[in-house]
Amino acid sequence: MTNSLLILAGDGIGPEVMDEVKRVIGWFGDKRDLPFDVSEDLVGGAAYDKHGTPLHDDTMAKAQEVDAVLLGAVGGPKYDDLDFSVKPERGLLRLRKEMDLFANLRPAQCFDALADFSSLKTEIVSGLDIMIVRELTSGVYFGEPRGIHMEDNMRVGVNTQRYTEAEIERGARAAFDLAMKRGKKLCSMEKANVMESGVLWRDVVTEVHQDYPEVELSHMYADNGAMQLVRAPKQFDVIYTDNLFGDILSDCAAMLTGSLGMLPSASLGSPMANGRPKAMYEPVHGSAPDITGQGKANPIACILSFAMALRYSFDKGAEADRLEGAIETVLADGARTADLMGPDGGTPISTTQMGDAILAALDASL
Ligand code: NAD
Repeated sequence: MTNSLLILAGDGIGPEVMDEVKRVIGWFGDKRDLPFDVSEDLVGGAAYDKHGTPLHDDTMAKAQEVDAVLLGAVGGPKYDDLDFSVKPERGLLRLRKEMDLFANLRPAQCFDALADFSSLKTEIVSGLDIMIVRELTSGVYFGEPRGIHMEDNMRVGVNTQRYTEAEIERGARAAFDLAMKRGKKLCSMEKANVMESGVLWRDVVTEVHQDYPEVELSHMYADNGAMQLVRAPKQFDVIYTDNLFGDILSDCAAMLTGSLGMLPSASLGSPMANGRPKAMYEPVHGSAPDITGQGKANPIACILSFAMALRYSFDKGAEADRLEGAIETVLADGARTADLMGPDGGTPISTTQMGDAILAALDASL
């Protein structure tokens, strides 16, 4: 089977960090006999500049065909005053919507060398490795009715939390499948104490559990989940939650581990004809206009996003481990881009030097 990848580097630091990912992709082709059929295209402001739209239809069509999309970042001050319909972010939203990427995977993993970076005590985060699965295509961000209207001479804002069983179930299956590949523990979070959609959520997850008897399932109210994430995050393996709670809990969990420049993500949809899920991988950070073009961007979040692609699209878990191990090694050896400099200072390395160090560690892993 070929391994096809569409790279959409986007705006700002997107192309800079993606250059390092391309070198890593090339390394796996050369040194691990794992070639990728890579194509590249525009998204966000870069696509708007060329086509007057943040995502050309041809690019959308390509994204539907490949095994995985790898996205850098979109946006920037140049595009802030554009009409909402052509803002760079609309390109990203269109990809997520038309590919129907319903499961958003956000790992929170603490590299030992960076444990001091967390706002929590080192012993609480050291060795942390959890995964939040957030339902991405439904819930209160999409539910109808919505809007602002007048009632009794007063403005009223309305949003609706709405979930069908099918929506809860497909995300739950993605979360159970992940738990099977990891520590076989799943915690489902909702507010079944005050929300009917939460009662249904708990029921459906419990039903799906019958197909995964090896996974230990627990349920937790999402507010308690937030507390537990900062009190004792290592109690969790995989967390499954809805769009709104997942938005908040995944940011909270991610920050346990330090810098924005270190955080990857994956968004997965239904399996394609070849059995691989529709998938898009991207760093959590934005286009960082404040450091664009200065060689300061940390490429690790984007490289870790490719590691997720190796694991979840191409079923190359051992190669993903190799890449993550190489990153662990360079950090342990003290390599730091500017965003990873602690209060003690030191000399930061550039985006390209971080790429060099990771490639050298990959070579050393052979
Ligand atoms: P941002 O993530 O771009 O930057 C926030 C801060 O983190 C900045 O100080 C930046 O320098 C730093 N930072 C981010 N990534 C870094 C990296 N890899 N290495 C080192 N430092 C890094 O968020 P923002 O400033 O709020 O947004 C800037 C633009 O990006 C906006 O146009 C916004 O709409 C867009 N944005 C895009 C995405 C996306 O493409 N997924 C996500 C968030 C924001």
